[in-house]
Amino acid sequence: MKRVGKFAFALAACMLIASPALAAEKIRWKLAMTWSSTLTPLASPAPKLAKMVSDMTNGNFEIRVEGAEKHKAPLGILDTVKGGQFEMGHTASYYWKGKDITTVFFTTVPFGMTSDEQMAWLYYDDGMKLQQKVYDKFDVYSFPGGNTGVQMGGWFRKEIKSLEDLKGLKMRIPGLAGEVFAKLGVNVTNIPSGELYTALDRGTVDALEWVGPGMDIKMGFHKIAPYYYAGWHEPASDMQFIINKKEFDKLPSDYQVILKTAIQAVNADMFAENYDSSAKAWAEMKKEFPNIKVMVFPDEVLKAMKKANDEVMEAYAAENAEFKEVYESQKAYLKKARAWTKISTQHYLETADKVSE
Ligand code: CA
Repeated sequence: MKRVGKFAFALAACMLIASPALAAEKIRWKLAMTWSSTLTPLASPAPKLAKMVSDMTNGNFEIRVEGAEKHKAPLGILDTVKGGQFEMGHTASYYWKGKDITTVFFTTVPFGMTSDEQMAWLYYDDGMKLQQKVYDKFDVYSFPGGNTGVQMGGWFRKEIKSLEDLKGLKMRIPGLAGEVFAKLGVNVTNIPSGELYTALDRGTVDALEWVGPGMDIKMGFHKIAPYYYAGWHEPASDMQFIINKKEFDKLPSDYQVILKTAIQAVNADMFAENYDSSAKAWAEMKKEFPNIKVMVFPDEVLKAMKKANDEVMEAYAAENAEFKEVYESQKAYLKKARAWTKISTQHYLETADKVSE
């Protein structure tokens, strides 16, 4: 009896030690994307994240990804994640500008930071702390979820030679940049992505901005509007993962770490994927459409854009303390970060240009 008792005790102890593995919790989540499933690279991070999380948990934590073609609410993601219909979303923070203007800073702002500078601000300065402060109001956690790098200023059917040429110009340009252009006399409209090509082709708009060569090439704008302007309005557009707070807090702690680690991995991955697709698409466009002209807006236009942008930002800061706090954090950080960017990346590019053939 004594021997059996000892054996039974040892067996029970083994089972106790082994029990966490045996009882690995099965979690099934749903994630809604703002994009349709084929709109890569914007649609790339979420499915990659789901695979990583599943692989790292031996299939115990599964996240089912739904594109906008299925859930039909591309701009309703913040509400559906807050409400718990989806535990997670993949989207962009500036789509919530109408709910809370301060959300714009966590995507990009005109004349703001580059991707390098913004990542540094988010991860190592006050960025993510401020981002979470803004999103606490919506009961979701918010994380950077990929970045497009510098977006191009858009496709124009005619050259912009002066401020006068902007007056009455019909352009699709959303967000703060739209407010800036509206101040300069542009007739700003927003049109769903599926109708953009036709709108430009038929002259419903004279110009539009989208992303950069990698995504623009599939839209075909370069076939009808040959002036491709350099960017000023979206220097580092960050995508965003949002997670319902209650659902995240309920996760076993190892799953929480796995999920956050996978988010950071796909954040970096999308930047690389987009850079690669733009480099390749631009080479193809240049070859097939040698009439495309890369342009920079004239100085008087750029100066007016900067002045109008400062006025828009100052007006929001005057009426909204939280907007002011984030605006000042970005401005203060950019002062240091830009000085470093100039003596490192910018000087290197100028140096390399001098010796290139
Ligand atoms: Ca854009």
